[in-house]
Amino acid sequence: MKKISVAIDGPAGAGKSSVAKAVAKRAGYLYLDTGAMYRALTWAVLQANVDLADEKALKSLINTADIYMEPGETDRVFVNGTDVTAPIRSAEVTGHVSAVAALPAVREKLVDLQRQIAARGGVILDGRDIGTVVLPKAELKVFLTASVEARAARRCAQLAEKGENVSLEKVKADITARDKADSERRVSPLREADDAVHVDNSRLTAEETADLLYKLIKEREI
Ligand code: C5P
Repeated sequence: MKKISVAIDGPAGAGKSSVAKAVAKRAGYLYLDTGAMYRALTWAVLQANVDLADEKALKSLINTADIYMEPGETDRVFVNGTDVTAPIRSAEVTGHVSAVAALPAVREKLVDLQRQIAARGGVILDGRDIGTVVLPKAELKVFLTASVEARAARRCAQLAEKGENVSLEKVKADITARDKADSERRVSPLREADDAVHVDNSRLTAEETADLLYKLIKEREI
């Protein structure tokens, strides 16, 4: 059986990362959370207090930021040797990531890195532009989505598990704003690839979604 390349795209909170990770483990694939890479660079921008309009400072930060993804039971993310796995999930990073991800220089660097990691095949990448830009030749493309209500309810439950009690309305507003920014940006906007399998998992559990994706992968391995 030849392993394939899998691209999973979709809006915020559709469960892409948890489903992709579970399926990768089951199928013996490498999983790459590309959103974590944009979050890591956003963390670096905030840490260095770089103004997004300051092109020179931004370019220098992008050139010197070494982003390293360490796969494992908990995928770890490092920026210049600092473990940023937890801080990249903060509300502050989440609030700024769409603006940083809209910058062409940022996308150029990270898309290049993502393609290098994916070159070996047998990979599942999840993000916003994987099927359209990063891996346009992926053997399987999935556009994973769900109603904004379902996505907000899940995100709320995840936050509550971490001890962060945020109202459903606030989570819904944040998700809607991020989707709007990601869909309307000029470079590589969030868009469903023409040849993607459209999966709406509003009424599916994470396990059911993972089973469906696993089946789609197995159908394409030859
Ligand atoms: O997947 P996650 O929600 O962690 O992604 C965080 C942000 O990173 C997205 O809202 C989007 O702005 C950006 N992103 C992107 N392209 C990707 C993955 C994520 O622009 N391939």
